[in-house]
Amino acid sequence: MVATITNFTRLPIQDRLSIAGLLYAMLDLYRSDKIFQQYDDLDAQSLFVKLGISERLINEFLRPTLLVGLFKPPEELSAAVTMELLYYYALAHQDSFDVRWIKSKSIAEHLFAPLSRRLISRHHLQVLGGTLVKRVTMSSDSQRVSSVELKNVATQTVQVIDDVDAVVLAVGVKGLKALMAQSPELSKAAPELVSAASLGAIDVVSARLWLDRYVPIAYPANVFSRFESLKGAGGTFFMLDQLHQDAQQALWGDEQPQGSVVASDFYNASAIAAMSDQEIIDRLTHDLLPIAHPEFTNARVVDSEVRRYPGSVSLFSPGSFRKRPPLETSVESIVCAGDWVRMGDKEHGAKALCQERAYVCGLEAGNSLIRRKIVNGADHSHPVLPIRADEPQVVLGRALNKLVMDPIEALGLKLPWFNS
Ligand SMILES: Cc1cc2nc3c(=O)[nH]c(=O)nc-3n(C[C@H](O)[C@H](O)[C@H](O)COP(=O)(O)OP(=O)(O)OC[C@H]3O[C@@H](n4cnc5c(N)ncnc54)[C@H](O)[C@@H]3O)c2cc1C
Repeated sequence: MVATITNFTRLPIQDRLSIAGLLYAMLDLYRSDKIFQQYDDLDAQSLFVKLGISERLINEFLRPTLLVGLFKPPEELSAAVTMELLYYYALAHQDSFDVRWIKSKSIAEHLFAPLSRRLISRHHLQVLGGTLVKRVTMSSDSQRVSSVELKNVATQTVQVIDDVDAVVLAVGVKGLKALMAQSPELSKAAPELVSAASLGAIDVVSARLWLDRYVPIAYPANVFSRFESLKGAGGTFFMLDQLHQDAQQALWGDEQPQGSVVASDFYNASAIAAMSDQEIIDRLTHDLLPIAHPEFTNARVVDSEVRRYPGSVSLFSPGSFRKRPPLETSVESIVCAGDWVRMGDKEHGAKALCQERAYVCGLEAGNSLIRRKIVNGADHSHPVLPIRADEPQVVLGRALNKLVMDPIEALGLKLPWFNS
């Protein structure tokens, strides 16, 4: 609150102070696995209300923050993951978080293509682009993977890989759902994957606008908060021309720059995804952006792009934690990787919807296969850098809380928000 005192100027101080109870709950979150589970079973909105957070702070600060941080409103989110997000991004690491946008082309072209070229040339990796895993078949004793069936999306060609040492399932819930539906033997051998496949996912829409004039908006990164026309979605917009002042031409695909380039993402966006591209662009240019700056009304859209990503983002709903896929599954040679994976004793400090978490989990998945000698990778396990340590007041607060709360709970008393 102190660090952002100048940012939320419209929120009265008494509303801001009402968040204090949540700070206590954050200290309580990791007291034990059981307590974490209880917070996970609660939805964030109920927790906020029970903690006495003011309606205004919930609606004007927490709700829009969650819509862009976890892509859902608080009533649809696990209170545990909500607190993880707020602690990780807003409290502990505010100064390590920055906005970066690729200037030109895409992340696939800039990051993944060179990485995959390097792995192909140095480590003989075979990359099958545009190909989905359709089915995983198990050996007769259900202990090993006997084959993996793949399908090229464009050509519909099917390919089978036999002699599989290990499988890293680095798919989201949508992918896992499709895979489990086609893999009855795997479903039987690893029921936890069936459970994970039953979780929900979130629709995302992203739009990019190239305008015929520069709009001098105060901040390059912005959150849309509480707009009727968002139809329940969360939204952000980024002024790419401001973030990349030195690369205007690249933003315009090497053509003559004409004005601002705006990238906007909508989360929890099922209703927006159902609109036509033109309707989405009109909504942005006529309803949403002009509220941030009236000059948007006069700007003409020179070019635009709208993309839809149905069911592409993990939904951390109340009670979802126990269903999320584990790093190591019941089948020894199958591991999971991704932002929604529970890492057990390898759990990392990067939380929630986060590339760092997905990346670390991928490293841990590989390390696990090497450590258990399922694949031959002696000395090739990859170090994982921890996030920086919690600040002393957090460590002390957690220790004191445990000291006080464990004996109280042993007497059968509960924190009021756990009483339904
Ligand atoms: C609009 C938006 C903005 C975001 N901003 C940020 C940010 O600023 N910082 C940040 O850290 N995180 C951000 N995130 C979150 C981040 O993108 C995710 O946390 C991260 O991508 C999760 O990685 P993952 O590997 O778990 O899953 P994914 O990235 O979803 O990867 C899963 C992959 O599996 C593939 N797949 C599915 N089914 C199959 C199959 N059968 N066979 C083969 N492949 C399959 C999919 O095509 C997909 O490529 C953002 C997300 C969105 C949507």
